[in-house]
Amino acid sequence: MTHSAHDEPSGPAGFDSLAIHAGQAFDPTTGAVIPPVYLSSTFVQRSIGDLRGGYEYSRSANPTRTALEQQLAGIERGAHGLSFPSGLAAEDALLRTVLRPGDEVLTGNDLYGGTYRLLARVLEPWGIAVRVVDTTDLDAVRAELSASPAKVLWIETPSNPLLRVSDIAALSSLAHEFGALAVVDNTFATPALQQPLALGADAVVHSATKYLGGHSDVIGGAIVLNDDELAERLRFVQNSTGSVSGPLDAWLTSRGIKTLGVRVQRHSENALAVARFLEASGRVAAVHYPGLASHPDHELARRQLAAGFGGIVSVSLGSSDAARRFTESAGLFQLAESLGGVESLANYPHAMTHASLQGTELAVPDDLVRLSVGIESVDDLLRDLGRALDAADGAVSARAEDAR
Ligand SMILES: *Cc1c(COP(=O)(O)O)cnc(C)c1O
Repeated sequence: MTHSAHDEPSGPAGFDSLAIHAGQAFDPTTGAVIPPVYLSSTFVQRSIGDLRGGYEYSRSANPTRTALEQQLAGIERGAHGLSFPSGLAAEDALLRTVLRPGDEVLTGNDLYGGTYRLLARVLEPWGIAVRVVDTTDLDAVRAELSASPAKVLWIETPSNPLLRVSDIAALSSLAHEFGALAVVDNTFATPALQQPLALGADAVVHSATKYLGGHSDVIGGAIVLNDDELAERLRFVQNSTGSVSGPLDAWLTSRGIKTLGVRVQRHSENALAVARFLEASGRVAAVHYPGLASHPDHELARRQLAAGFGGIVSVSLGSSDAARRFTESAGLFQLAESLGGVESLANYPHAMTHASLQGTELAVPDDLVRLSVGIESVDDLLRDLGRALDAADGAVSARAEDAR
């Protein structure tokens, strides 16, 4: 039985308190408020096998990583947290722990490109079958699960890049009805907005690179779950394959998590303003943001994402030329992959983050731009996007002139 700070009846219980304090006790030898970065690969034993605090070798466990893992469990309100060197490493460890050749994974049809690449290009050759369904359509998911049993139902919500919202509680109980494990990629919402384990999911995965780290300065991943036995097997696979985050990376991620609540609140406010601005401009084909009444999953999003709709806004510009011009001419929104940092970024998924999906049924439309709305002053963000819209219109008229 793992004992973490949030189990203490007298300990802090609120999300922001857990983000700041879970696993983050001051250093008992010096009183340093911030737990030190343990840059040590190995640990001196009192006598053979008599370890100080359970540490022997940093691949198996490292105190800085332990501090992060307790913090991760705290914010997702799970029993066990595991920290990985990247989001994909976390996904890989989880999938290889629960799947055997011949097993099937059922996944949503709007999905981070790297997750699909891991499933289709790395795991399929080892005998895993991957099937795709629209997880916003519960009847379709039921039909798929009854047609052929899946071992894992992979749920990304809100999804990347179209921000579709899937019903975690309903999908988890469907998965359990058919004996599948419900896994939620909680990278976009973060536990500041949604806590999938409380809604019935079996495991949560994260790219900690994004909002958890929050400052675009570290690559990391995480798994949080309640099941003791599965957690044990995951730790065995993690140690056996060496898929661990280093202490400096773990420390940076811990530091980021402490401000997750306030950052996500501001990301959500700015993103809603950006989404409304773009929609009201009448100059784009569609704005994809779960906080807009026009979004197909708005009602579910209001129920499931209690405190905000997150910081990602996608925009359909109507043509690939316009999308490229828009992305390349935004200034404050810097042209880069990734998301979730304090600074705003613009990404062209078709040729960047989701390029590996081209030619598959998950291919991203070529007129789509994904904005990671940062926490800068919102007026500056809107002015920047106004200029980008001018440039996108320029692309249209330039083409019209070519045609003449
Ligand atoms: C970035 C991302 C991942 C992969 O995480 P890495 O840290 O880049 O390995 C997985 N899922 C989603 C939704 C992501 O955005």
